[in-house]
This record gives sequence, C-alpha cells and structure tokens, in this order.
Amino acid sequence: MFVVMEESATEAQVQAVIDRLVNRGFTVHRSTGVVHTVLGCVGPKEEMDPRDLEVMEGVKECHRVMSPYKLASRSFKPAGTRITVKGVEIGGDMVVAIGGPCSVESKEQIEVSAEQVAKAGAKGLRGGAFKPRSSPYSFQGLGEEGLGLMRDAADRYNLFVVSEVMDHTQIPMMSDYVDIFQVGARNMQNFTLLKELGKSRVPVLLKRGIAATVEELLLSAEYVMSGGNYDIILCERGIRTFESYTRNTMDISAIPVVKKLSHLPIMADPSHGTGRRDKVIPMARAAVAAGADGILVEVHPDPDRALSDGAQSLYPAQFEDLMRQLRMIAAAVGRTI
Ligand code: PEP
Ligand code: MN
Repeated sequence: MFVVMEESATEAQVQAVIDRLVNRGFTVHRSTGVVHTVLGCVGPKEEMDPRDLEVMEGVKECHRVMSPYKLASRSFKPAGTRITVKGVEIGGDMVVAIGGPCSVESKEQIEVSAEQVAKAGAKGLRGGAFKPRSSPYSFQGLGEEGLGLMRDAADRYNLFVVSEVMDHTQIPMMSDYVDIFQVGARNMQNFTLLKELGKSRVPVLLKRGIAATVEELLLSAEYVMSGGNYDIILCERGIRTFESYTRNTMDISAIPVVKKLSHLPIMADPSHGTGRRDKVIPMARAAVAAGADGILVEVHPDPDRALSDGAQSLYPAQFEDLMRQLRMIAAAVGRTI
C-alpha cells in the first residue's frame, strides 16, 4: 500500500499517518519528493482499509498494491485454471457452450431442449429447478423433481448439468443431480452459501451480482476457494445501469478485465445480459471475440409458452445458427467451439 500526502501536509500530519501505520504493523518507507511526500508501506498479512487513511488530515490518496483476493488472483496461477466436467475442459482452448431453458418445466420440455442444444453443439444443459423470481407469485421451479428430469435428459445426450443452488441446505441433495452448481446473480454475496460451496468439490458457476463490481465478484470467488473448492467459473450476466432498453447492461469489458486479474475461467450469459432474444446473438458473438471461455444461453423449444424468461430465450433454430457463427469467431481468436 502507498499513501500520497497533500502538497500542504505538515510534518505533524505525515508523522500521524506514519504512527498509525506502524501501530498496525506496517514498515513505512518515506520518500520526500519536490511536491509530495509518499509513504510506501509494507504490511502485515491483515489488510487495512485505504479509506481509514484517506480521511486523515493531510492525506491526498491511498492505494493498495496487492489485490484483496489472493487465491482468485492471476498471480496465484499464471497459466490459468482448467476445469474438467464430464470430460469437457472449461478454461482451455475450447469455448464451451451451455444451452437450455431458464426453468425445467416438464419431462418433455427438458428432453426436447437437451436434444436440440446437443445437436447444435452445446456441451452442457442448463435449467433452473429452484428459481429466484422477483415475485413470489411467479413460477418457482419444479424442485428436486425437475433436477431428476434434467439429469435423465442430459445423460441421454451426453451433456453435463448446470443448475442454480439457492440455499446452502440444498447442496447435499443437489450434488446427486448436478455437475456444476450455478450461483445466481442475486446470491453472489450470500456468504453462507459461498462458504458451504467451498466445502463441496462440485464446480461452481458464479454469476456476477446485479450491481457488483469485478472486485466484488472475485472476492466472492475467494470465499469459495478459501474453503478448498478451486473449481470456479465466473460469469458475466449484465449489470443494472441507467440504460433501460435492455434488461441489463452486458459488460463485455469485464471479460478481458477478469482475464487479466484472475486465472479463473469466465463465461458470458447474453440472455440475462440483454433480456431480449434479438440481442442475444450479437452479444454472444462479442463475448467470444472478447475472450470468453464459454457461453450460457437460454434456449426453449417453445419460448412463447415458457414459464420464465421466454422473451430472452432463443428458438432452437436460432441457437443452431448462433453456434455456426461462433465457430467462425472462435477460429478467428484461435479457439474452437
Ligand atoms: C438464470 O440463469 O436463469 C438466472 C436466474 O440467472 P441470474 O442469476 O443471472 O439472473
Ligand atoms: Mn432465466
């Protein structure tokens, strides 16, 4: 950490900052420039909130040099993390496509979905059995029954299963059905859930919170990793901004930002990122061009009758077309799909 003092800072103010840092266990290296005094601080393990120093008299600004997350940071594993799920490597050369409906609705719906996304080239089947709906009166999902239907459908078409875990009490039961636990945007900072997932050895797809910064996303990953589960896939799914044309604002720039800061694979969910079927394909293309390790796309055999997120669900033929386009884009950035 380093602290830049104001041009007008008095010697007493500089000394007060030094005393505070020394009391917290830091070794302070003082450099007196022509204009500013800068204090370079080599710290103990425990971090100090830069704002505690910034509010002191005579302090101009304070910056951390080390990232607040350790296990999730790129320097922990410079080569990048690769996670193998049912024989499919995530974070390697291949861009991994996961498709399926927002919610599992019936045996027939999930069977047809699995068949269609597998035929188009997806490696994973998505579908919620526990749904985090804004209204308590909206369809809440089929629960364990839905997970069973999804498992059977996925196995028939050699797909892995991704489904959302909403509460830590669901982890043991869901472990029998899913290959990847999805943590939804609304639960990105459910720390009890994250800690319990840290004890599991099932990979976790961690979605970015609705109003979360990239740093907060990586700190949430750190929660899971600090429990011993290193198999985390991050997911950009749009954030809430003042723009109202799309459901969320798909932050494509988060993909290269995360790639630099972290070794963890990052996927993109253009369905929730835009909320509109006609915008899903362009954003999926952009995500792959920007370096995403995979895409998570809502596809429904009959979107107009979907029980959730129909407007953003692709028709199966659109998903097939998207996959065809992504093959060209993946090749252009040195990858396969
Ligand atoms: C979903 O994947 O259907 C979902 C609810 O996602 P999110 O948590 O990103 O809103
Ligand atoms: Mn959805």
